Amino acid sequence: MKFRKMSGLKGFVLLGVLCASVVNCFSLDREAFTFTNYDLNLQIDPEQHRLGVRGKITLRNDSPTPQRIAVLQISSSLDWRAIKVGDKAVQFVTQPYTSDIDHTGALSEALVTLPQPVAPKGTIELDIGYEGVIVFDATRLTRIGTPEDAAESTDWDRISPSFTAVRGAGYVAWYPIATESANLSEGNSLFEVLGRWKTREAGSTTHLKVSVNRTGSDLPQILFGGILCQVLMYEQMGPHQLIDAECPSQALRLDVSTLVIADYQVLERPGIEVRYLKGHDALAANFADAAQALVPFITEWFGKQRERAKTADLPNPNAAPFESGALLLTPLAATDSKLAGLAAAHQLTHAAFLSFRPWIEEGLAHFAQALYLEHEKGRQAALDYMGLHRSAFSEAEKPTTAPRSEDETNRSLVNTTSEELYRSKAMYVWWMLRDMIGDAALKKALAAYRPEQDKDPSYMPRLIAAQTQRDPAWFFDDWVYRDRGLPDFKVESAFSRKATTDAYMVTVTVDNLGTAGAEVPLTVKFAGGTVTKRIEVRAKNKATIRVETSAAPQEIVVNDGSVPESDLTNKVFKIQTADVAK
Ligand SMILES: [Zn+2]
Repeated sequence: MKFRKMSGLKGFVLLGVLCASVVNCFSLDREAFTFTNYDLNLQIDPEQHRLGVRGKITLRNDSPTPQRIAVLQISSSLDWRAIKVGDKAVQFVTQPYTSDIDHTGALSEALVTLPQPVAPKGTIELDIGYEGVIVFDATRLTRIGTPEDAAESTDWDRISPSFTAVRGAGYVAWYPIATESANLSEGNSLFEVLGRWKTREAGSTTHLKVSVNRTGSDLPQILFGGILCQVLMYEQMGPHQLIDAECPSQALRLDVSTLVIADYQVLERPGIEVRYLKGHDALAANFADAAQALVPFITEWFGKQRERAKTADLPNPNAAPFESGALLLTPLAATDSKLAGLAAAHQLTHAAFLSFRPWIEEGLAHFAQALYLEHEKGRQAALDYMGLHRSAFSEAEKPTTAPRSEDETNRSLVNTTSEELYRSKAMYVWWMLRDMIGDAALKKALAAYRPEQDKDPSYMPRLIAAQTQRDPAWFFDDWVYRDRGLPDFKVESAFSRKATTDAYMVTVTVDNLGTAGAEVPLTVKFAGGTVTKRIEVRAKNKATIRVETSAAPQEIVVNDGSVPESDLTNKVFKIQTADVAK
């Protein structure tokens, strides 16, 4: 006991000594400022893997206290060169900062002493300069034991002669950010840090000018956030090219804006444009045809396309696909026609249906993928696909003993910044809603949606409620407005009796041990067939249903996989002969 006190004190003293060098150590709030505007000039030299940036950024103090220190972070492979306020250079200290928000697993952090404190809600404009290289790097993944090839397929960002793609915060901090350290080996740390950053940055504007100095003969395409940048100047001097481009100013969204420079060819169909790399002509045509064939199906569900869906090729066939704005980056070489349909269903839905609410926009795009699989191969194929997504969020939805009232709100579909919730869980929610109210009603509700009228989280639920006789308020409360975790259904009992000479009546009681209610399919198996009914069981509640069968019932199965549950091992109930009343 005494020893522990001593070591605690020693730790405190040591911390005090370390902090003496940085005046405001104890009041350093890395997330005090929101970066509201980026105006950046990029110099890119692909042969050298080099990025040089000069520009202006605007910071707004979103903390309740005046801030004297501004924290600016960039990838650890980049170095700070200059930081100014107005025309005056300001004092700044740089230090490495370990964080998995960047692919290198670390950031170059500048602690900038501002000329005067910035008051809450006050803003300050900084002139900045930094440079360095961005090469392929998967340190953050390999150091926690991720196999090399899996790490490579995730962290594929780099600047290189043949292909350049850099995603932003969460992959490569090629523009300045300010975040607390994120650690991939600590549960949701990275997602939480990233989620806070994205929420603060949503609506910030970015304006880029890009100069590319490279060897080449074709004019490369430069894309930012899925939008083609306009070439202002192009000079060819022998094998050397100098290209100046301007990327239209755009608001950052919850997805990460990505800069891509590649020698793309473009294939256009009425519903989709596909950018592909050399030699991928046939692959691009396959992809475009698979997508075009799906347009009528997607239109029937999600309305007419607002714009063409956009897809761009990635050179590494193992690269994990990534969405940036309206653009899907995916390796065409690894996309056979089955996968093409799956990817296209998602992209076409984005091109048709717009919402700034991630659980609606992304949830529906994933739901469309399940609908596509059902359309092609039947319900089971769709449920199997959704099952792959279930593991993504069921870990996060494990019931905990700690009170989680705050989590209930923060992690609700209307508020969450967690991808596994607004993608995978939301997909299930749309599927369950569709099972509950039917295709026609859900299509009508979606057709009535106007993004400009979506001023309140209850807007979409009200559109859905308007199309059904049932009151789905409890469902929205358990699944959308709050994160109540998952249901856990168990057949508590099943009693069967002979109703007539050729019919049996089985009375089934289902217990929901979980913390969210749902309407779930229940199948009774008997010699020669099955009967499936749907039963609504609220959280921590029971419900009873009577099912008629033409032979003695043998087995009850609750949930066909369409409702995500915390425990999937207790779904089958064998009817013992003793349960069958004579
Ligand atoms: Zn999407």
